[in-house]
Amino acid sequence: MLCYSKQLDNNIIQIDTGYSRPGLAACYLVIDSGRVAVIDTGVEATVVRVEAVLAEQGLSVDSVDFIVPTHVHLDHAGGAGKLMQLCQNASLVIHPFGSRHMIDPSRLIAGAEAVYGKEGLRRSVGEIVPIDRDRVIEAQDLYRFMLANRELLIIDTPGHARHHFCVWDEVSKGFFTGDTFGIAYPELDCDGRSFIFPPSTPVQFDPQAWHASIDRLMAWHPERMYLTHFGQLNEPVIYMNSLHRMIDELAALAVENASPDDDLATVVEQYFHQQLDIRGCQIDSDLFSHVLNLDLDIIVQGLRVWLSRQNRHD
Ligand SMILES: [Zn+2]
Repeated sequence: MLCYSKQLDNNIIQIDTGYSRPGLAACYLVIDSGRVAVIDTGVEATVVRVEAVLAEQGLSVDSVDFIVPTHVHLDHAGGAGKLMQLCQNASLVIHPFGSRHMIDPSRLIAGAEAVYGKEGLRRSVGEIVPIDRDRVIEAQDLYRFMLANRELLIIDTPGHARHHFCVWDEVSKGFFTGDTFGIAYPELDCDGRSFIFPPSTPVQFDPQAWHASIDRLMAWHPERMYLTHFGQLNEPVIYMNSLHRMIDELAALAVENASPDDDLATVVEQYFHQQLDIRGCQIDSDLFSHVLNLDLDIIVQGLRVWLSRQNRHD
């Protein structure tokens, strides 16, 4: 196998997208009878990796029938347009709330440039290109589609973002969860257990909707989850309660530290240290920063946006 790819059971291949750092973001190839679905796409730099892994499997780019970003955040969908250009047989399967951003990414690009800067965006995500409307399938909740003989099912899962769905694969009894079932970096595994946390990314974090989405996924009795960040997670039932709890605890920390004088970033960082301690996970501060700094920053930004939305509703 190529160094950035990993063969999983059930004809699924995990590919490190090359976004930001190794081990941060994955996408997945699901294969049945020589036909392929790509779930999440990573960024522009991911496209050559997908092409190389297909070639290694003896498959051409024309064997890709579906390209399926779980939502339109750029670490999941930034490379979708470029991948669609490469894979001319493919349809894009996307949440109805995300489709217009794939067809005309100008607002997506403007929003990301505001955060990363023009040059920063180019470096981290690369070029974002529009997708022909005729090739886009807007997948409503419970939309089913066939990859050769393998059925894939879309489940609407708001909470991390309103334009987020998860993909159920009957063969593996697993969900491709994007960010809905949280983030678990292998570097933070301890005693065979993952440390899983909910990314409250701007600007649509919604605790209530997220709880409902997690419960909905678990109603399928999944045996595994394929996390974008990062890799296959077995026995998801073990992690369900802590994910629910952390959503509420992060929201509560935001409420308790709502004034401009409060240092929410420090409070959230301490909270993550505590959570790792509780699990007996000893990691030094360099590794903590290396693995978590980017996410902690985004989590805090998302909590602040959520808080200001709450206050407007009061
Ligand atoms: Zn996301």
